[in-house]
Amino acid sequence: MEEDRSLREFIAKHSRLFVLTGAGCSTDSGIPDYRDADGEWKRAQPVQFRSFMDDSLIRRRYWARSLVGWRRFGLAKPNDAHRALAALERQGRIGLLVTQNVDRLHQAAGSTAVVDLHGRLDTVRCMGCERRLPREELQQELLSRNPDWVDLDARVAPDGDADLHGLDFSGFAVPDCEHCGGVLKPDVVFYGESVPRERVTRAMQAVADADAMLVVGSSLMVYSGYRFAREAAAAGKPIATVNLGRTRADELVSLKVTRPCGTALGFLLEDSRAA
Ligand SMILES: [Zn+2]
Repeated sequence: MEEDRSLREFIAKHSRLFVLTGAGCSTDSGIPDYRDADGEWKRAQPVQFRSFMDDSLIRRRYWARSLVGWRRFGLAKPNDAHRALAALERQGRIGLLVTQNVDRLHQAAGSTAVVDLHGRLDTVRCMGCERRLPREELQQELLSRNPDWVDLDARVAPDGDADLHGLDFSGFAVPDCEHCGGVLKPDVVFYGESVPRERVTRAMQAVADADAMLVVGSSLMVYSGYRFAREAAAAGKPIATVNLGRTRADELVSLKVTRPCGTALGFLLEDSRAA
């Protein structure tokens, strides 16, 4: 296929890649995408940072949905797209992989030079004392405090949040930090919250050090990812995108591949097996 050959050539031609990945990279792992092919929201927008911090009912609803969503989210396994990018890193071709995903599937596939731009869902952060604890530990606590919610099932969103329409969340019990009584929040960047500066700085440095940028499974609709494409374009670095729908950076891109990520990058796995 023409697109395959072009992508292969693009990757062969640029020895040090800056890679940015998004939700499309994880859809084959059973983690659905927020946006459809036109970049529009598929479902109600997720929780805003301010309302999560200010409103205990919003927090109860969030954790109730998360209790349900986490079980499936926590079972997700890497797919060919993750494995292909891990193989490319082993060949020394990736300077840094920056992901907008919070699922840690790149690391599970073996990638090591990864920045989790939007944080990680397997960790919970106390907003009072900055203590971190494993999400699984909080899951057990939530289950023991809310036995009536254990058997619920629902559609799962990319952040492990689930749709539970028409339920009363006021009785759902959410623990506070046992050390300081602070609000516990998933260690992910919510809408309305900034990406920590050191992550952006490290990613921008990697853009500067790279020969080219490869975008995998992101529409770049969110500014936190789009800014890297803009930076790369401003520095005259070629950009290739692998995404099923249109992207915000289409006019900046030198190669656009409209295929599922795992299929488009599959040749990297064949190459690594042959090597
Ligand atoms: Zn605390």
